[in-house]
Amino acid sequence: MKVVAAGRMDVVRLEKSRFVSFDGGVDVYADYQCPDRYRMLHADLGERPRIARGAGYSSAAASLGVSTTIIDMSRFDRILWFNPAERRIAVEAGMTIGDLFRITARNGLWLPVQPGYPAITVGGCIAANVHGKNSATSGTFEACVEDILLFHPKHGEVRIDRTNHYSLFKLTCGGYGLTGIILSAVLRLEPLPGTAVAMERHFVSGCVEALKSVRSLAANGKSTYTWHDAAPVSQTFGRGIVYAGSFVSGDSDILGPMDYRRMTALSRCRFPFSIWSGVRTRAMNSAYRWSEKLQPRATEIPLFKWLYPFAKCPYFFYLFGRQGFCESQVLIPNDRCEGFLQDLQRHIVGKKAPAVCVSLKAFKGTQALLRFDGDGIAVTLFLVRSKEAQEFLQTLDTLTAFWHGIPNVIKDSRLSSSTIRACYPEYTIFREQLHKHDPSRLFQSELSQRLDL
Ligand SMILES: Cc1cc2nc3c(=O)[nH]c(=O)nc-3n(C[C@H](O)[C@H](O)[C@H](O)COP(=O)(O)OP(=O)(O)OC[C@H]3O[C@@H](n4cnc5c(N)ncnc54)[C@H](O)[C@@H]3O)c2cc1C
Repeated sequence: MKVVAAGRMDVVRLEKSRFVSFDGGVDVYADYQCPDRYRMLHADLGERPRIARGAGYSSAAASLGVSTTIIDMSRFDRILWFNPAERRIAVEAGMTIGDLFRITARNGLWLPVQPGYPAITVGGCIAANVHGKNSATSGTFEACVEDILLFHPKHGEVRIDRTNHYSLFKLTCGGYGLTGIILSAVLRLEPLPGTAVAMERHFVSGCVEALKSVRSLAANGKSTYTWHDAAPVSQTFGRGIVYAGSFVSGDSDILGPMDYRRMTALSRCRFPFSIWSGVRTRAMNSAYRWSEKLQPRATEIPLFKWLYPFAKCPYFFYLFGRQGFCESQVLIPNDRCEGFLQDLQRHIVGKKAPAVCVSLKAFKGTQALLRFDGDGIAVTLFLVRSKEAQEFLQTLDTLTAFWHGIPNVIKDSRLSSSTIRACYPEYTIFREQLHKHDPSRLFQSELSQRLDL
């Protein structure tokens, strides 16, 4: 344990601990601190690289690094103020979106952009500019952020928004924690559009067929995502379900029980081997599809359950076991999706890649810097972590660049700087702005080092 001076009376303890990226791809022992006072964040860590950590749910190693001091922000989880009439709330960065939802929903308000697990933090949502199931209508997380209080040892605490320090605000929303520590943020809420979700299931025989439904349902304002069997078998590849949700008003209790099973990157690794593999993947995917067929085509489900499908049922991730999984999410322009999806199927089946499932979501937005945003369809693929999966993902990088797509850097722990340079037109601008803001590059992670940022 090391001790660093923080102020006249305080010391900050740096302990060594093990950190694993959520996909199991990066595993390090690193110095970390878990401060619970603002003055501890001001501790003089000298020139040593550091990075803020939310809850650690990123598949990529965005909040850890081997020679990086990890600053765990989970103890900064308070509401600073809440003005329901103005639909604004100020929270510390370590507050989870599940807790935020619990508090705001009781006042008839919510954040319209919500990633799929309640223990993810507000800081992590801002830094990765995350998206929810309604990215085609509500955009990405930045749309909910009014201002941010950012701390960088060389600049002190700075309030950044769309009028003051706008370029730093833009760099921080989707800046992967590299501009400094987000201490707190003022978020804009919207009226809760309903207390439950009327969910429809549409069964499809392939990913290309699903595209049409996804586009038209999203255009009608429905929150939509899909699930497809991606086991490398040509007869079954792509069979799946399009889930479309519209908000309905019901009994307010239907917000549902808001508790959840808390998995972490380490608890996820409990099983010694992957249950997803070969014939078992095919059997489990078929069983899932049949179990969904037995459900009514339209059902009403609590909003909490719709927003966070993995809250009660995180087993999908556990089943990958200790070796973990590979996740890849790419955003493909609308006019190139069919071609991309056909190529994806051809390569997965042809190479017998250890793929498990694919999911599609519609996006509408503007791409800038290193943000996963733009117009198109987000295609997410899960594979069993293995040599074959790593080789296949190199082919996927080539396909993504060929079809003018962008990979999501927070979802894939092995993307290279050359792939990101090739796919993101503003890679160099992001890098230059970051170096101008932080010339000694105090904020670093395995992700930033791998991507040469
Ligand atoms: C089950 C599950 C479902 C998911 N669903 C979605 C989804 O629907 N849409 C989506 O976009 N993503 C989704 N994700 C990914 C997740 O939303 C992002 O990876 C998010 O960034 C994780 O936030 P975190 O709090 O766990 O932060 P971490 O993973 O610890 O960190 C993420 C990044 O945020 C930075 N960061 C965290 N806190 C701060 C802070 N206070 N100051 C500065 N930087 C900070 C870190 O440095 C790092 O770069 C999902 C992940 C899981 C496990």
